[in-house]
Order: sequence, then C-alpha cells, then structure tokens
Amino acid sequence: MRTTLVRNIASLVTNDPEREDGPLGLVEDAALVIEGERIAWAGRTADAPAADDVVDAKGRAVVPGFVDSHSHLVFAGDRTQEFNARMSGRPYQAGGIRTTVTATRGASDEALGANVARYLAEALRQGTTTQETKSGYGLTVEDEARALRIAAEHTDEVTYLGAHIVAPEYADDPAAYVDLVTGAMLDACAPYARWVDVFCEKGAFDGDQARAILTAGQAKGLLARVHANQLTYGPGVRLAVELDAASADHCTHLTDADVDALANSATVATLLPGAEFSTRAPWPDARRLLDAGATVALSTDCNPGSSFTSSMPFCIALAVRDMKMTPDEAIWSATAGGAAALRRTDIGRLAPGARADLAFLDAPSHVHLAYRPGVPLVDEVWRAGRRV
Ligand SMILES: [Zn+2]
Repeated sequence: MRTTLVRNIASLVTNDPEREDGPLGLVEDAALVIEGERIAWAGRTADAPAADDVVDAKGRAVVPGFVDSHSHLVFAGDRTQEFNARMSGRPYQAGGIRTTVTATRGASDEALGANVARYLAEALRQGTTTQETKSGYGLTVEDEARALRIAAEHTDEVTYLGAHIVAPEYADDPAAYVDLVTGAMLDACAPYARWVDVFCEKGAFDGDQARAILTAGQAKGLLARVHANQLTYGPGVRLAVELDAASADHCTHLTDADVDALANSATVATLLPGAEFSTRAPWPDARRLLDAGATVALSTDCNPGSSFTSSMPFCIALAVRDMKMTPDEAIWSATAGGAAALRRTDIGRLAPGARADLAFLDAPSHVHLAYRPGVPLVDEVWRAGRRV
C-alpha cells in the first residue's frame, strides 16, 4: 500500500496515551506516516522513516480531526425570529422544537438531504471529520424513519431521537406517544440507527419515560445516549450512568451525586457550550467534572433552535474562556473525548492504527484554537488518509 510522509509539523497532537507528554501526546517538529486510510507511524521529523510520497506541513500544527458527537442536522426551516426574540429578553423553552417539526415534515427528502450535506460540508471545512447526527424533528413513524434514512446516507453515527419532545398530536396523551416511540416507531427506525437518545427534561420526557425509551432501544440493539440535565436538575445523568449510556449530554445542572456517578462510570459527560452561548444560559461546570475525574467531551449540538453552530473551534474557545478548561483539555475533549462519547477508538487520535483524520492549522500550536477565537485557522483537512 502506498505511504505518505507528512513532515515539518511544528506541533502534533497525537492523543496517544503511550506518549509521555500529557494526555495530548504532543510532539514538536513532528512527522506522520500514513498508509492507506491509517496512521502507520508518528514521531519527530528527524526520526521519520522513508515513504513513497512526501508532504511538507510548512510549520503548521496538526490535530486529530474533530469528533462532533452531538448534532441535529436533519431539519428544515429557520428560527431566526426566535433567536432574535430570545436575544431581546425571552427565555428558551423546549417547545420551540415544534416550529422545526412543522417545517421538517413539510420538506422533501431532497431538501432534507441537501441540508444535511450542507452542514456536514460546513463542519468538515472547520476540521470535523466525524459527525454524529440525530432524528427528532419528524415525530411520526414515517418522518422519523425518513430522517434516519437520510442521515445514514451521510454518516455512520446516526441516532434515533423520536423522543425529542412529545409529538403535538399526542399532547393530551404522552403515554401513548411513549408507546409509539418504543413500539412501531422504534421498529421502523432501528435499522438506520446506531444509537437511541431521549430528551430527559421538564417539558419533554421524565425519568420513567426516558428509561422505557432507552431500554426498548437497547433491546433492539441500539446503544444509549441521553440529553440530560440541560435546563433543570433531574434524573437524566444518573439514568444514563445506570444504563451504561455512552454519553450524558449537556450536564449543565448537576448535583454532587450526578458528578460522582459520571466520575465512576464509562459514561462521558458531553458539554455543548454553543447551547449556553445561544440561549444565554449558565455554563456547565467543566472544571468540577474534570477535577472529579469524569471524562469530558465537547460538541456543537448544531441545531436550528438552541445552538446553530457547526464550529468545533468555536466550542473549544468557549470552553477555555468561559468553562475554565485549559486549551489542552479542550482540544482533547473535542477529539479523543468525542471519540469516547461515540465508543470509538479508531478516531480522535493520531497514533499507529488510527484513521488518518487530520486538521492542519494555520498556526504553530493547537493553543491558537482558543487564543485566536473566531479565526478560520483550519486550512486543510484529511479524512481516512485523503485530503478533502
Ligand atoms: Zn441536542
């Protein structure tokens, strides 16, 4: 198989736990050898083996492609007015999702697919090489299955979120909607999805309903992840840990028991600072989670209502500036942390055997992602060993 040597990397983030220099496994004056889709070697340029082709990184930094483990890209319509009103003083409530449900149901397959492709391309330009995305704006058997079928045409990380909110048609009988989500809708959706998710929140689904939805999905072979403790304290985080969910997402309102549960589990705490930014809500306390020993991921939550950003660099900058993460912690959480939240070991790191997903930065160090907020530093992206 043909090999490519990428040399003259000023600073390389490997996230290789075998290396000594911190959790980032940082290598200065570094090089990589790529064989096919995979990393074959990483180390100092001076020690690099020969390869068939040579690429000069010209003193740029290289980080693993970002792993965005939480987004809602299968939607139609626009919520500019809602955002504008909120920035003029009205609070965010879960019910705003209904606006997008109406628009999504009315959109063609082609329009929905084009939207997914557009936002995936936008994210890729900003260094995201793995993107999870969800259903949740259909809320009928046909519309949820359609959303997942379209999502699966674009990414392997597809999540069934029929339990985003109770469908408007079931407003007077939420129990019947839970029966649908755990019954006919699940049957129609499971073939397209890897994950099952639920919005466990006041105004959406309570702890008992969330448990029924997640365990039904698990019985169908789906893996669990949970929208937990975003707007209020609640049972979501502890339910996620109890059911060995890969990730509890949001984690904005946590008790000490919630933090302990996360720290003593394989469930990743995924923080989505774009949501707090876009709703002017209190930040999740990343420092408290990290100091307790929890694994933390960062993700965009890209969706038209509460966090309409596809930018992982923006989330890194917010996490460092406002959530008290160090730049190193934020980079790790946006790459290896995201991979952990998707239970993946082949992405989020640049060590031998990993997929060759690379983001080249127009900067000498990964720290610039937080140091130079809002600047488009990602100027070249490779996925599976190929420049894209
Ligand atoms: Zn979400």
